[in-house]
Amino acid sequence: MKKEIDCHEFAHANARLASKSRNDSPKLAIVVPCYNEEAVVAHTYNALCQKLNSLIAQNLIAKESFLCFVDDGSKDKTCELLLSLKTPSHKLIKLTRNYGHQNALLAGLHFVKDKCDCVVSMDCDLQDDINAIDEMLVKFKSGADIVYGVRKARDKDTAFKKYTALGFYKFMQTMGVKILYNHADYRLLSHRACENLLEFKEVNLFLRGIVPLVGHKSEVVYYERGARFAGESKYPFAKMLAFALNGITSFSIAPLRLMSVLGVVLFFASICYGIYALYMKFFTAEPISGWTSTILVLLFFGGMQFLGLGIMGEYIGKIYAEVKHRPRYFVEEVL
Ligand code: UDP
Ligand code: MG
Repeated sequence: MKKEIDCHEFAHANARLASKSRNDSPKLAIVVPCYNEEAVVAHTYNALCQKLNSLIAQNLIAKESFLCFVDDGSKDKTCELLLSLKTPSHKLIKLTRNYGHQNALLAGLHFVKDKCDCVVSMDCDLQDDINAIDEMLVKFKSGADIVYGVRKARDKDTAFKKYTALGFYKFMQTMGVKILYNHADYRLLSHRACENLLEFKEVNLFLRGIVPLVGHKSEVVYYERGARFAGESKYPFAKMLAFALNGITSFSIAPLRLMSVLGVVLFFASICYGIYALYMKFFTAEPISGWTSTILVLLFFGGMQFLGLGIMGEYIGKIYAEVKHRPRYFVEEVL
């Protein structure tokens, strides 16, 4: 009973605290992972500084709000450039090597978690419209703990990227994964949503799949997504495909089930075909003969078996990576 009362008191205190920080000017952190972004980083920094200053001037956020760049083991001048931009309102976390976008973002979230009331994560190339942050803050202040940035259209994308992305979202939804259509990693998280998100300890990170699992009240803000203004995409097709596969195998076991269903269907089909062949041999004058059909059936079943083994291998590989519990990143220094 005592424990229950404590829990209630704690929940009330938590809610009071959360609503206080919402009504005053909340302290905002903007987390930006960067990998080989020397072409864009200075411009992005200036644009975000201006944004922060204008939000502070409008009293929408606290004046202690700050930017947090995460250098994900860049091999170019990204880190040097960020270091040369010395102002009190920005932090730089340098990782020991390249850990990938999702881990870099996670490192940033870990760092800012206890230093702000809400955090916005975004890419370094300003493809996400930074003016959407205003609306995100309005929704945060009116009670949302998660505000998803959702792109309105994909007219700035190449036809290839547009259709592969569309296929990816549709496929994910068919596989039973609850992700928001056209939402990437541009979002606002309240302090408690961020804290809860960081409770997920998986190594195979797919943040846009995990965030909806946190629950909490969520809202959506629509924005136009532009083209990258300089530099190159760090997600070429092979990497995008690997990312999509990771998303599917991290959140759905539908492919494994599909293999079992296919196995059962093929088993019954082969029994039917066997009965038919026996019937033809013993009750008609035209027994089934032929090398081609045998080879075809053999290849089909062989292919299915390898596919099944491959899918199981994907999941076993994932279990292997998870049980090792390797650290997801190391921080070289905080600057
Ligand atoms: N990124 C990163 N580590 C990586 C790859 C990418 O931190 O290993 C960052 C990159 O600097 C950018 C964001 O992740 O800020 C998204 O990458 P990008 O814009 O190239 O992806 P796209 O928009 O083309 O899908
Ligand atoms: Mg981009």
